[in-house]
Amino acid sequence: MKPTLLISGCLSGQPVRYDGTARTLMQDSLARWQAEGRVIAFCPETAAGLPTPRPPAEIIQGRDGAAVLDGSGRVWEAGGHDVSGLFLVGAYRALDLARRHGCRFALLMDGSPSCGSSFIYDGRFTGTRHAGQGVTAALLRRNGIAVYAPARFSCLEAVMD
Ligand code: SF4
Repeated sequence: MKPTLLISGCLSGQPVRYDGTARTLMQDSLARWQAEGRVIAFCPETAAGLPTPRPPAEIIQGRDGAAVLDGSGRVWEAGGHDVSGLFLVGAYRALDLARRHGCRFALLMDGSPSCGSSFIYDGRFTGTRHAGQGVTAALLRRNGIAVYAPARFSCLEAVMD
């Protein structure tokens, strides 16, 4: 049986980003997987109850999602609210959904404090990137789900087909 993919809601066309936009990924293979019923779209942040639009959030002090899972890192909204608990709720809901659908692969929007898999922003809200992963990406990886960023789409095609 061919694998099923978990995908960030915003990459599948849902306008769920913090600024109310989508980042729809246009790829023939992705459209075919969707038509075959092999794609599960999910936004961890809205699933946890965060509104759209919402203030941008970053993992502070140069940490990443793994530190948030371990309790040594925090996620803050611009303006000073600690939203770590909601980000953890969203991550665990993503993991639960992935398990229920047997997903071994996830295609997640890079740079996000939830979905980032190769880089995130450094917590100073200055647009500065650093290598790291978001909370959901870290949790999925810890549980054996391979996470791909859109920049690695060709690698994903190799395992999905
Ligand atoms: Fe997209 Fe993930 Fe952010 Fe939701 S949490 S808007 S799916 S990057």
